[in-house]
Parts: sequence; C-alpha cells; structure tokens
Amino acid sequence: MTILSVAMPVPLRRSFDYRLPAGCDGPLLPGMRVLAPFGNRKLVGVLLAIKSHSELPEQQLKPINELLDSQPVLTPALMALCLWAASYYQHPIGDVLHNALPALLRKGQGTIRQQRWRLSHLGQGLGPDALKRAPKQAQLLSLLQRQASVDAESLSSEGISRAVLKALLERELVESFETEAAASYRERDTEAPLVLNAEQQLAFDSISLSEGYNCYLLEGVTGSGKTEVYLQLIHQCLERGQQALVLIPEIGLTPQTLGRFQRRFNCTIAVMHSGLSDRQRLLAWQWAGSGEASIVIGTRSAIFTPLDNPGLIIIDEEHDSSFKQQDGFRYNARDIAITRAHREGIPIVLGSATPGLETLHNALQGRYHHLQLTQRAGAALPPSYHLLDIRNIPMEDGFSPTLLSAIGAEIQAGNQVLVFINRRGFSPALMCFDCGFVAQCQNCDARMTVHYGERLLRCHHCEAQQALHRQCPHCNSAQLDFRGSGTERSEQALNRLFPGTQVIRIDRDTTSRKNAMSELIEEVYTGQPCILVGTQMLAKGHHFPDVTLVAIIDADGGLFSTDFRGPEKMGQLLVQVAGRAGRAAKPGRVLIQTLQPEHPLINALVDNHYHHYARALLAERQRSGLPPFGHLALVRAEAQQPEQAEAFLLALRQAVESAAASAAASAATSAATSAATSNTAPATRFFGPLPAPMARRAGFFRGQLLLAADQRKQLHQSLALLCHYSDQQPLARKLRWSVDVDPIDMY
Ligand code: ADP
Ligand code: ZN
Ligand code: ZN
Repeated sequence: MTILSVAMPVPLRRSFDYRLPAGCDGPLLPGMRVLAPFGNRKLVGVLLAIKSHSELPEQQLKPINELLDSQPVLTPALMALCLWAASYYQHPIGDVLHNALPALLRKGQGTIRQQRWRLSHLGQGLGPDALKRAPKQAQLLSLLQRQASVDAESLSSEGISRAVLKALLERELVESFETEAAASYRERDTEAPLVLNAEQQLAFDSISLSEGYNCYLLEGVTGSGKTEVYLQLIHQCLERGQQALVLIPEIGLTPQTLGRFQRRFNCTIAVMHSGLSDRQRLLAWQWAGSGEASIVIGTRSAIFTPLDNPGLIIIDEEHDSSFKQQDGFRYNARDIAITRAHREGIPIVLGSATPGLETLHNALQGRYHHLQLTQRAGAALPPSYHLLDIRNIPMEDGFSPTLLSAIGAEIQAGNQVLVFINRRGFSPALMCFDCGFVAQCQNCDARMTVHYGERLLRCHHCEAQQALHRQCPHCNSAQLDFRGSGTERSEQALNRLFPGTQVIRIDRDTTSRKNAMSELIEEVYTGQPCILVGTQMLAKGHHFPDVTLVAIIDADGGLFSTDFRGPEKMGQLLVQVAGRAGRAAKPGRVLIQTLQPEHPLINALVDNHYHHYARALLAERQRSGLPPFGHLALVRAEAQQPEQAEAFLLALRQAVESAAASAAASAATSAATSAATSNTAPATRFFGPLPAPMARRAGFFRGQLLLAADQRKQLHQSLALLCHYSDQQPLARKLRWSVDVDPIDMY
C-alpha cells in the first residue's frame, strides 16, 4: 500500500500519514501539494515522503481528497531548506512550508498559466522587410523578432490591436501557446556601470562566483558604494547564466532602489514584497522558479523563492531587524540565506555600514571574508559629528537653541535638514498637572500616545483608542500636560519656528496610504530647502543629496534599554540616520542632543563612528557570555488568567531540568568505566519564568523563560525536550506560547 507522509498547516510538530485513494495515479514526489481531511476540515498539505508502512493501523488511515499538483511546487532544495529551518527554529514543519508558499498556492490554487504568442516556423523564415505593406503587422513581426514572445499586456502597451494579431495568426506566421513561466519585459537602454574606486575594486575582485560557498561581509560606511559593488557582481553572475537573489529590508525596498536595478539590467526582475497582490506574487515566484527572472529582489520572505539556477545571494543592510519575523515562524532570513547559500554551494554577500555583532564576530573570527569600504564613493565626504549637551538648557518642544539656530542657518543657505525622532504621534504621555493622572491603555501596561491632529489617544501596542480628554478624568482639572515629543509635535513646532519653510513629516501615520511615501520623497528630490522630520523610516536606503544637516533629537534611549541589544540597535540607527547627511557634493554635519555627553558609548560613536563602537560592544558581550559568545532562546507564553503563563513555563523548565538530571545520573553511572564523560560541559541555563517587560499586552498576561547555553547543540537539545514535553501538555492548548531561537527582541 502507498502511504503519504504529509506536512499539514497546523501548530503540531509532526507529520501525518494518509492513504492514496484508488484511482489517484500519476507521479508522486515530495513537494507536491495534497488536499486532505483534518478533523472536520480539508486542508492543503505538502507531501514530505512516500512510504509503504505506517505506524498507524491501516483502517485508521484516511485517504487524501486530492493530489493538487502534477509536479512539485517546492523544489527538493527548498524542501530540504524548510526541513532544516523547522528543526533549527523548533517550529512545526507544516507551518514552515506554508510560510514558504505564495498565498494562492497555500489556498490550493494551481499555478498561473498565461497565453502568449510567438513566431511560427513559417514566421521565423521572414526577413525584416517582409510585411512592409501592412505597417502594423510589420511592427508586430519586428517585435517578435526582437523578443521571443509577447503577452496581451505587452501588445496593448505597444499599441498593437487584436485584429493585427488575428491577421498574423490566420496567415500562420504567429502561433499561440500557454506557459506558466514567461514574464514580459521591454527591451530598454541600460545605464553603464560606474568605474569602481580602488576599495570597491578590491572588494569586487575578492568575491569569487566560481568557487562555491563563501560568505563575505562587505562592511562599507554609508555612501561608500556598496550597491555599486552588488550591481557589478550581479552583472557577472548573469553573464555566467545564473540567477541572483537580493534581499533588502522592508523600508529599503523603495522605488528608488528598484529603479537602480531596473536601469542597470535588461532582464526580467522578479520583485517580491508585501505590497503585491496574491496573483503578482505568484507570478514573480513562478518566474524565479522557471529561471525566466534572472534577478529576484525582495524582502524577508523572498528567501523562500525557488531558483532554477542560483549563482549569488546578496543581503543588503544585513543587520536590519526586519529580516527577523517576529511572530508565528520566527525565522531570521539572513541566517536562512547563509544556510541556503551553503547548501546550494554559492557565494553570499552580507552588506552593511553597521554590521550586526553576530556577523562582525564571524568576520573577525575568519569564518566570513571581511571586505571593507572606508571612504565614501565619488566626491562625497564623511559627515562630521557633534554632541549638544542639553543638561540645564531651556528647550523649545524638544529643540535646544543651538540646534534651532543650526537648522535656521542651513535653510538660509538653501539646504535641506533631516530631524530624526524615533517616536510617532504628538506626545508619548498625557498627564494631569494637578493630580498626577497619566493616561494608560486599559489592555496593556503602557501609556497611551497622544495623536493631536486626530484628537485621539492611541495605544501603540494594541488597537485601543479613545477621544483625547479635555479635562482630567480623575480631578476634572483642565491643566493637562503633554509630556515629551513625537514626530507630530516636532512637525508642529518646526512649522511655527520656521514659517515659510516646508516641513515634511515621514512616519507610519503619514505614509500609510499607498504611494504616500513616494510622493513625499519626490518633494524632497525637488531640492527645495525643507525640513524632513521622521522616524527610523528615514534611516535606510534613501539617498537625499541635498541634506546637509541631520539633527538627532534624543540619543539616549538605547543606552538605558532593558534589552541587551539596546546599545547595538541604537548605534546602528544613529549611524544609519547620520549617513543621510552630505551624500553628494555638499558636506554633511550631524548634531546629537544628549543628556549623557560623557557617556563612553556615545563618545565612541562620535569619535570612531560604528567601527570601534561595535568592537567595544563585542568585548562587553564576551564578558557577559551573551550572543554571539553564547546562544539564547526565548520561550514566551501568554494567557488570559494572571500567573497561568508563568505556571506553564515553570512546568516546562522543571520537566527539562529533571530530564537532564536523570540523563546526568545515568551518565555518572557509566562514568565509572569512562572518566571522560563525567566532564560534560555545563548544560543549558534557565532564567525565569519572569513576567515579560510589558507584562500585560492586548489583555493577555505574558511571561517568558530564557534559555542560554555556550554550545548551540546543548541549547537545541533542551529546546527539543521542552517542545516535546509541551506538546503533551493539555495547558499548552489553552494558552499561546512560542519558541524564539536567537531572539532579537527580548520583550
Ligand atoms: P551605499 O550602498 O554604500 O550606501 P551607494 O552605492 O548608494 O552607497 O553609493 C552612494 C553614491 O555614490 C551613489 O550616488 C552612487 O552613484 C555613488 N557612487 C558609487 N560608486 C561610485 C564610483 N565608483 N564612482 C562615483 N560615484 C559612485
Ligand atoms: Zn487630575
Ligand atoms: Zn494597548
């Protein structure tokens, strides 16, 4: 009997066996989808293996409803990658595979087939002047002589009517065919590559596309021309007839970035990001898998794109936290990319001005090739950094007088200014002067943020919102005070202080509408003097040639964060924002307001930019055994009853510890014969369970248990035990819990 082992999209860490119903024949291969009964539903699962024996008795096996594919939708390479990821992240394989599939395939639809037209055998024999007397037909002929085939869309964009097509079809010069692969691109003129400078050339020459897997860190200061190096590597990759996969952070995938790729290459580029329709996404996926697209460029989930003939992977801004999925399947696309490159035997380039400490450590240890670009490309100079001590200085809506006069001077001189404040909304706290009342979210341990323009209080951690108070709800005082500033307040203040100067605010609230971001950026590109005020959305990917001053309103947040990654993230963010200054002909300046002008970290950043700062942080991590010197996993649980999450986590901890203790006891018995085994390394250390830093969010009480180990293997053994135990706990089904391997946010 044929038994199908299927991964089903359910939160269970196992596969399920089904029977093949009679009459269902055709080839069976792993990576094909099936429709199969699960409980009282039918779900789309992915075939893992075909076997002849099941542990379940035959009569308990249900038949699948339907085999959905005639060939695998997931290639053997992707299947293997997903299996590896499921085990590494301790995540159910069914959900991992579901993450890897485009939505339409997840829902059970087939791949998209398109009608296209090409020259028939007869048509191919025609010379360029054959249809001279019918100019429209000649136009179509010439188009098909230049590109292999056309679809309806490209016909209409060329202004060729259906009647013309029909005429050529009737004369049997053109034939129609169906395909799921072909993308249509228009022949276009491409921009010539730039002449690399000496550092770029050295980096370029050091990266080999023909020697199989190697991981390269391209550490280049902002504006050093990393992108130009990527473009020339991709060019080389295409010349070898191979595909390049480029991952970019969510907010880095701007029309400007895409435009740079499109202007350079005359080939199909499959773009994968969250703004696509399901159909567009599936098409891009098919083009990548068939090899029609030579370049695939996308955000995090594009790491699961099938590639026909991969030759190179590039991760731009590799330190960016958007590569880590923060819910469900909590994978890090950068780390999966490195594994993928290794398995496919191809090179991978990680680029950043501010590499993550894990990556930097690997490079310093010699596991990655370390390439550096220390100078800005072209004529641009590095920006100069200055600290503004704001202790005891009277401030105006968050701005010190020195900062205001610097902004004024730049505007006077016809330049643009970027003001960075990493908080949206008007003010992060509404307080009563008379009784000390502070507006809190009812569902979260968090303050409500004032959104003044909307006259609303909003919680930034759940959906809660309410009308802005006019009076204190406790004492009826009208003396309400907005404490602290966000982008909205800074925008208002700048409008008041610099009348006549355009102030452009860029944050999640002003860019939520489709195309809003591009429209705002277009205004900046006019080069008119203006003040840009915004959150970290401004930090990455943008190239603002006329910005000469970057003002950082408050640099201190990250220094006192409870998260051990706080200083690393703060440093990266400040350097990235600062990197927007002086990127072209005009030199740039960065002014940083701080209450900690003597803090060694702030000073390291100002004196040596990221380079020494990051190395100082690494030394600190080594002293405390934190990543990359130790390995962490965070188990989170949340429940509607207080203490339930922590009780659950405590039971998990105790189960793993007692399993480890009995393993150690049996090891000790056998150690009577072999002294070496009693010297086993210390096992996994547990911290917690403890309440999460925000103990209540969206109405749930949240707890967390941290696992730490010096060796990855120990950590994974403990996690496997923990998951095994938890899967058998009835309580596990009553609350929400998750495992986060290599967490980057500790809340
Ligand atoms: P990065 O990706 O490191 O931030 P970019 O590749 O965006 O840097 O380059 C910054 C600017 O320098 C761009 O305007 C780019 O056109 C220019 N540039 C890059 N390489 C060169 C070069 N070799 N010669 C002249 N200009 C260059
Ligand atoms: Zn009050
Ligand atoms: Zn809330």
